[in-house]
Amino acid sequence: MTAPATTRAADFIRTIVAEDLRTNKWGGRVVTRFPPEPNGYLHIGHAKSICLNFGIAEEFGGACHLRFDDTNPSKEDTEYIESIQEDVRWLGFDWGENLFYASDYFDRLYAYAVQLIKKGKAYVCDLSQEEIREYRGTLTEPGRESPYRGRSVEENLDLFERMRAGEFPDGSRVLRAKIDMASGNLNMRDPVLYRILRAKHHRTGDKWCIYPMYDYTHCLSDSIEGVTHSICTMEFEDHRPLYDWVLDELGVYHPQQIEFARLNLTHTVLSKRRLLELVEGGHVTGWDDPRMPTLSGLRRRGYPPEAIRRFCERIGVAKRDSMVDIALLEHILREDLNRRVPRVMGVLRPLRVVIENYPEDRIEEMECVNNPEDPAMGVRKVPFSREIYIEREDFREEPPRKFYRLAPGREVRLRYAYFIKCVDVVKDDKTGEVIELRCTYDPETRGGDAPDGRKVKATLHWVSAPRAVEAEVRLYDHLFAQPNPNEATDEKGFKACLNPNSLAVLTSCRLEPSLREARPGSRFQFERQGYFCVDSRDSRPGALVFNRTVTLRDTWARVQKAQKKQG
Ligand code: ATP
Ligand code: MG
Repeated sequence: MTAPATTRAADFIRTIVAEDLRTNKWGGRVVTRFPPEPNGYLHIGHAKSICLNFGIAEEFGGACHLRFDDTNPSKEDTEYIESIQEDVRWLGFDWGENLFYASDYFDRLYAYAVQLIKKGKAYVCDLSQEEIREYRGTLTEPGRESPYRGRSVEENLDLFERMRAGEFPDGSRVLRAKIDMASGNLNMRDPVLYRILRAKHHRTGDKWCIYPMYDYTHCLSDSIEGVTHSICTMEFEDHRPLYDWVLDELGVYHPQQIEFARLNLTHTVLSKRRLLELVEGGHVTGWDDPRMPTLSGLRRRGYPPEAIRRFCERIGVAKRDSMVDIALLEHILREDLNRRVPRVMGVLRPLRVVIENYPEDRIEEMECVNNPEDPAMGVRKVPFSREIYIEREDFREEPPRKFYRLAPGREVRLRYAYFIKCVDVVKDDKTGEVIELRCTYDPETRGGDAPDGRKVKATLHWVSAPRAVEAEVRLYDHLFAQPNPNEATDEKGFKACLNPNSLAVLTSCRLEPSLREARPGSRFQFERQGYFCVDSRDSRPGALVFNRTVTLRDTWARVQKAQKKQG
């Protein structure tokens, strides 16, 4: 037995795995799998499952398979297969040799179906989809048996073979398990195992015109691969009897299915079907839109994979359904970025400042600390000049109470530079808008303190006007304004809760010159503004585009307090 590599608290699944190793239930093996259907991009809910399955394999010295559950050719696409692999790798996991496709088992699944027919445990049914649903009954009423349920083994074998041979039109017949139409579990009322569907499969092409259903495929794929712990989300709890039935009837190797609660996140939808609706409806720019909860969206937004893994570790694994506040994800993101990311100065909404007593031709290189959290990240030089930009919101002509930043006649500190004092305000003749500030600086305050001990109440970030790099900055807010868009009852459904202000584009931001060469995907803290990263799709040298990953304001403590109050 291999001891877990980390000291994390064991959740109920890890406890089962450890116990199985202790009792040698699986001969010392631990094999898990992550089984996405390639019908969309992975989202942060999938990350929970990935971290759990690959994490357990890592910690217990086992293996985790990446298996594409590709039994529904009409909705699947190789684009998804590629993105899924990229995303799992990006999260930091490796399936090694263990890349599988359920479609690779089609021949064996067919042979197993024949075996079930021969055993009298499956039959070909000619009821329409509609009729099958009608016959199934409800939670309170038992189902009725199909008139085709009594077909002989010979007739079933003949019909199933002809289904495969393409003799019957799509939807005209199905193969069903013969279980129990009176079962309290609807999944056990003679579930469909195979359907006729003429659709080109991305791997098997036109070889098949019958395709196995999910429940039938899944347990057998687990069995074929020698999975030990088949970990899935709670909605499959009611499918477990069918999982067990298929494997028991066939008398094949039988993994243990274990269910856990899926991740739900506030201000987000985590369903591929809904995310696809957002993409197809043009509500976002694509699966990797930085507002999307997809891994590709989070990556483009600037999330490091470590922050997502840390989040998954922190939320833990349990059986009880819960809703995780997105503030926790953002809190963990800030913790991560705070340590690893260099700080720079960037002005999002620039206001020009002319320092009247600063020599016109002088440029000074000011020494700035890259990350006060980590001295090893060193220092850099940032040019200071007579003309600079400050943040428009850092100036008020008529400052309200408690506004300590720049105002006429007031002195403030420029970070890593000098004290400046506002001596005049230049306005646009027509609009009256403030377009420039005239200031003076105190040469004695270089580095940010006055030798006479006089104090200022604010420190502003700034950028040298002649040396600034212009950039576009995209500010994001939650995609959904309300905490639980899934509960939307409006006729437009969850899309009615889309936040109309989830994206704001600022086109003439001014950044310090060290950012000129910033590479796509690189991350920074813009002092006082938040965390930003260079957009990996739209940014070009000379036409930089930044995404705001997250602001600096952490609301997690407040959320926790409120949650505690509620009990
Ligand atoms: P969706 O509901 O988004 O369509 P899905 O379950 O249909 O997801 P699959 O491709 O079947 O998508 O998912 C692969 C694995 O990821 C499954 O084992 C599933 O249980 C797990 N998974 C999907 N969504 C979540 C979630 N929100 N939290 C945890 N695990 C999830
Ligand atoms: Mg699914």
